This record gives sequence, C-alpha cells and structure tokens, in this order.
Amino acid sequence: MKVFKFGGASINSTDRISNVANILRDHPGEKILVIISAMGKTTNALEKVTDAFFEGRKDEALTLFKEVKKNHLNTLKYLVSIQWKKAEDALADFFTEVEWLLHDKPVRGYDYYYDQIVCSGELMSTAMISAYLNEVGIANQWVDVRDIIRTDNQFRDAVIDWTITDEKVKSIIEPLFAETDLIITQGFIGATDENESTTLGREGSDYSAAVFANLLNAESQTIWKDVEAVMSADPKQFAHVEALPALSYREVVEMAYYGAQVIHPKTIKPLQNKQIPLHVRCFLDPQLPGTVISSNPAHTLPPILVLKEQQVLMQLSSRDFSFVEEKPISMLHAMFDEIKIRPNLSQHGAVSLLCVLDDKPEKIERLALAASEIFDVQLEKNLTLLTIRHYTAEAIATHTSGKQIVLEQKTPETLQVLMR
Ligand code: ASP
Ligand code: MG
Repeated sequence: MKVFKFGGASINSTDRISNVANILRDHPGEKILVIISAMGKTTNALEKVTDAFFEGRKDEALTLFKEVKKNHLNTLKYLVSIQWKKAEDALADFFTEVEWLLHDKPVRGYDYYYDQIVCSGELMSTAMISAYLNEVGIANQWVDVRDIIRTDNQFRDAVIDWTITDEKVKSIIEPLFAETDLIITQGFIGATDENESTTLGREGSDYSAAVFANLLNAESQTIWKDVEAVMSADPKQFAHVEALPALSYREVVEMAYYGAQVIHPKTIKPLQNKQIPLHVRCFLDPQLPGTVISSNPAHTLPPILVLKEQQVLMQLSSRDFSFVEEKPISMLHAMFDEIKIRPNLSQHGAVSLLCVLDDKPEKIERLALAASEIFDVQLEKNLTLLTIRHYTAEAIATHTSGKQIVLEQKTPETLQVLMR
C-alpha cells in the first residue's frame, strides 16, 4: 500500500490531469491512496471569496465564487463525458453548500467561514478527477476526507485527533481497499465532531498524506511535484543547483526551518515515526529518480543554500547598560508569540540583542513599538539572509563575495550570514 500526493500545480490543466492518469497507469494492481489538493490557484481564489463575504461584500463574494465554479465546470466538460451528469451533480452539491453560506450574514469568526468556504477547493478537484479516472478505466473510489480526518475546532490551523482518525481509517478506509485498488481523497481538510469543516494550514496536503501513510502503515509516500527532485537551492535564485538523490528526515526538517520551501514541515514526523520513506518525484518526467527521504541516506551532501531576501535587522539595546537577561528576553518572546513572528536568526550580546526577521511591515511596526517599551530599538531593512548547510570554504567565498557581512552565525553544520 502506497500513498501518493498531487499538489495544485500537478492538476492545473486538463493535460496535467491526464498526466495523473498516466502516472497511475504505471502502477497496475497496487493499492494506492491518492491525496489531491485544490486545482491550481483555487485556494487563493476561495480566500478572496471569504474576504469579500466576511467584509459584507456579498455580491462580490458570489461573483468571485461564480468564477471558481465556471473554471471547474469548464474543466469537467473536457474531462468527463459519459458520466458527466453524475459528476456535475457532485460538483453542484459543493457549490450549493458554499452559496447557501454566502447568502447569510457572518455571525461567527473569520477562520470558521474560511474553512467552510476554502475546503470546497479540494472537494471539487477530487470529485472531478475521480470521475475522470473512472471514465478512462482507472477504477477508483472517492472518499470525503471529512468523514475520516477528525480535528479540533481551531479553524485554519486545526489539530488532528489521532485516536478517532485511526478508528475511521480502520473502519472505513481499510475495508474499502478490499473493494478497490485506488482511493481518491482530499488533502488539507478535515472536520470537527460537529461536522464542521476545518483546514490544517496552507500547503497542508503533504501533511494529510503523511497522516494516512502513518495510519495505514504504508510502504512509502510519494509527493509528485513540478521539480526534478529536492534541489540544493532554489533554481530561481541560484545558477548552479543540483538534485539531491537522498536526504535524511532530519535534513528536511532543518531545511524547512531555515526557510527552504520543499515539503510542509509537519509531514516528516508521522513518516519518521514509522520509518516510511518519502519520495519526491517529478510529475512532468516520472522516469526521473527524484529524492528519497529516509533515516539513513548513504550520500554526503553538497552545500545546501537557502536565501531569504527582504530581511530586517532589529537591534534591541538596554537603555541603562544593564545586561540583557531572562526577564527582558522572555518579555520579547511573549511579543513574538503575540504578534506571530519568528526571528530567522538571533544573537545575544551583553547589552543588546539582534534579531533578523522577515519584513512584514505591519508586524515589524507592532514589534518595534512593543519592544520600545523596554529597549532602544534600531531597524535596518533590505538585507539578505543566506543559510548554507554543510558549508565549504568555496561555497562561502562564492556566495558572499562583493557583499558586506552584517552578522554571521556558525555551527559545525550550518552557516548563516546576513548581508547588505
Ligand atoms: N490547497 C491548499 C493550499 O493551496 C493545500 C495544499 O495545496 O497543500 O494551501
Ligand atoms: Mg499546494
């Protein structure tokens, strides 16, 4: 039994959806649970619907949602013919659920409405793809994942109840695999015990797939992406990047921590707990080996680079030359928590503290204001933070030459340099 995950980019056109069918055809007779995201940029579009609705612009919300509907109906027309009516009915049910809600006035919090509206993206995409696959002879069963993944009611960042979810996997998913080789279901969403829809945080489908892999004791999980493999750096930022054939779970968590946008960080733990290998493969060229992530990869790694632009250096100095000790530091951490911002690098001195942060202007302003109650605050903007894992003298020289180094931090494995 395997778990596959296809993200929004892998299903953003009819060609790409038929490519999903080709990939599945390469695995005849295997039992596969397929987790799928919303099509293309649907989640972003549904966020706009939610904003308009919540701000009382009902007509705009309905118009924006109509666009989303139209996109899906157009795609469906190209994909499905014999079963078209049945598939259209399934989509219409999801449309109706959202439209009913849009006709009301918001009386609950934003996050609640966000989840009720945004979850429709994956429900629509999976219903469509399931119908298409059945029509082209790839027999499958569609499952509403909200009947399986049980969460609490922290909308937009819901926490999975593993015990109940495990019971549902055993009582619903496992018996279904006796009837079919292929189950198609949604990533990113779940439901509370009151049947309210929830979401697990943006880009959460990788994590959903890992939850299923864990509970089903899958032999592997594969994330199909538009890149050749996990790369040593973002090819949009660096000229020379290499594919990484093998990585450890630990390395992936480290890379995510420093800001590499590879895999949703929550994905790793459920896989590592059961030693399930995670494959990252290219849906554009399924012959490529991709990357395998496991406990003990037998490769030495080249330098891995993560570049973050638009960084702010915040220097916090004590006003009276007193040491910066526990009390002001814990007050500062409480502020980070409150404002929901996390420094990408911090360094302590005797009477000052340096923090490097993403430049989210509204948050930086709030933080600077709050911190100025206890510190003198100085800001410098427009800096670049480079992290090099497994650094070499050559990599450091190449990537810092001609730059002014503002701050540097080094462990045996990781170098971080803030540059001007
Ligand atoms: N569709 C959701 C998002 O765009 C979840 C995912 O793609 O993983 O964030
Ligand atoms: Mg996505």
